[in-house]
Amino acid sequence: RQALYRESRDKPSITKDGIAIKLLMNAGLLVDLPQLAEAGAAGIGLFRTELQFMIASTFPRAEQQERLYRSVLEAAGDRPVTFRTLDIGGDKVLPYFRSNVNEENPAMGWRALRLTLDRPGLLRTQVRALLKAAGGRELRLMLPMVTEVQEVRKASELINREVQHLSRFAYDLPTRVKIGAMVEVPSLLWQLDELMAEVDFVSVGSNDLFQFVMAVDRGNSIINNRFDNLSVPFLRVLRQIAEAGERNNTSVTLCGEMAGKPLSSMALIGLGYRSISMSPAAIGPVKAMLGSLDVGELSAQLKDAIDNHGETGTLRNFLTKYAERA
Ligand code: PEP
Ligand code: MG
Repeated sequence: RQALYRESRDKPSITKDGIAIKLLMNAGLLVDLPQLAEAGAAGIGLFRTELQFMIASTFPRAEQQERLYRSVLEAAGDRPVTFRTLDIGGDKVLPYFRSNVNEENPAMGWRALRLTLDRPGLLRTQVRALLKAAGGRELRLMLPMVTEVQEVRKASELINREVQHLSRFAYDLPTRVKIGAMVEVPSLLWQLDELMAEVDFVSVGSNDLFQFVMAVDRGNSIINNRFDNLSVPFLRVLRQIAEAGERNNTSVTLCGEMAGKPLSSMALIGLGYRSISMSPAAIGPVKAMLGSLDVGELSAQLKDAIDNHGETGTLRNFLTKYAERA
């Protein structure tokens, strides 16, 4: 099988009925970068910048951050990299950064963009390091745990101020700065058009989105097998985001764990996703699945199953049977 995947590495990622699907990979450290070429990924759909912070014993200095981002971009060459701004707090604790609040529900607490908007020095340092590292090329920045569109506006203002600051000092700026938002808090489902008017792209964080939509702690093994991310309500949520992307002409990616499971990625493509980001080891198996997938047929059948059968449970069996027939 490994040999098979290696062989498929340089083949185009295209379905049986000719639809191109962008297969991206998730990464977080420089050691992940060789996998980009090895797995044949089209780029990095999610670079988790908090990893550098989590393995350090104190806040990485601006120069260290810049050095990492520059090395990542150099190693990626022509392939695009989407850097997510710090997603700390929640389950990602930094031993050297303690808030004095004791949170009962850290996943819903002071984390990610909420935290960095309250500590703008942290965000500014990171954004400046990213802007410097991406001089002469496109920079893609993605904001985690967005809850209200207003937060995106605030972050964008901060980013624009940094761009102006660097240009005053004659730095080599990125050719373009694209700003994106993660869709992983349910409140955004009712602000998708406004959000998409504000950003260049969105990426669904299905790990957190599932956790919050279903009220299932992603780290709690007692309950996290009880509900399925291939159940009708969650598939409807995912479809709603893909449709909003179409309507607003905004690029939509999904970068949660489910993107790397061939059955789930098949379902995502059936819902309208054309770009997914996963662990590098999953690229081969997902690419192999694409070759036997007729998207037109799957979309129609999936739509019927989601809308017309009065089903609210999981479509895992339905999708498995469909995959076996294909
Ligand atoms: C997600 O929530 O799906 C996601 C991709 O981000 P993380 O797993 O880092 O929270
Ligand atoms: Mg998340």
